[in-house]
Amino acid sequence: LVIEKINLYQMIVEIFKLRKKELLQKDISYSINMPEDTLVHCDRIKLKHIIENLIQNAIRYNCQGGKIIIKLNDFNQDSWSLSVVDTGIGISIEEQEKVFERFYRVDKSHSKKINGTGLGLAIVKDSIEILSGRINLKSKLNEGTEVKIVIPNFIMNQRGEMNENL
Ligand code: ATP
Ligand code: MG
Repeated sequence: LVIEKINLYQMIVEIFKLRKKELLQKDISYSINMPEDTLVHCDRIKLKHIIENLIQNAIRYNCQGGKIIIKLNDFNQDSWSLSVVDTGIGISIEEQEKVFERFYRVDKSHSKKINGTGLGLAIVKDSIEILSGRINLKSKLNEGTEVKIVIPNFIMNQRGEMNENL
């Protein structure tokens, strides 16, 4: 891991910018609910990959005219937590535990011919584990999904080494 100071708000703005076309096509609006100067200590590549995947799902499994809300739930020296909320097709209770499995895709999304490999969330889960974080999914069929991640802040100790601050 390469730990550095990251402006979380800016990272999320960049991710949405790259998806402008899909957002326009599906007429999806979004909001990023956090201060513009939100700084976290984390591995940039891993973190970006995690948030990209969650936002990709929130777009892909959203409805025409849907919404995406990104919110910072908790933020302190030790850890922070972010939710990606969408107003999409949702996931039934029975399928919720399976979506983190490799290659698992909910039937409903197959029938809707939405592209995907079923690997996104499995890789996200691995990355979260490497960062000593947690991931949690809440969803209601035909209403939407909320994926919440909790990630510890990594800090520098007195010897100048990066340590996890748990
Ligand atoms: P990819 O590898 O491109 O991410 P994928 O999106 O199919 O493919 P995952 O991101 O792992 O794979 O998601 C697994 C399955 O969980 C999806 O196929 C979809 O059925 C369901 N799913 C994931 N996120 C959502 C969401 N926000 N709303 C509804 N269903 C979702
Ligand atoms: Mg995906």
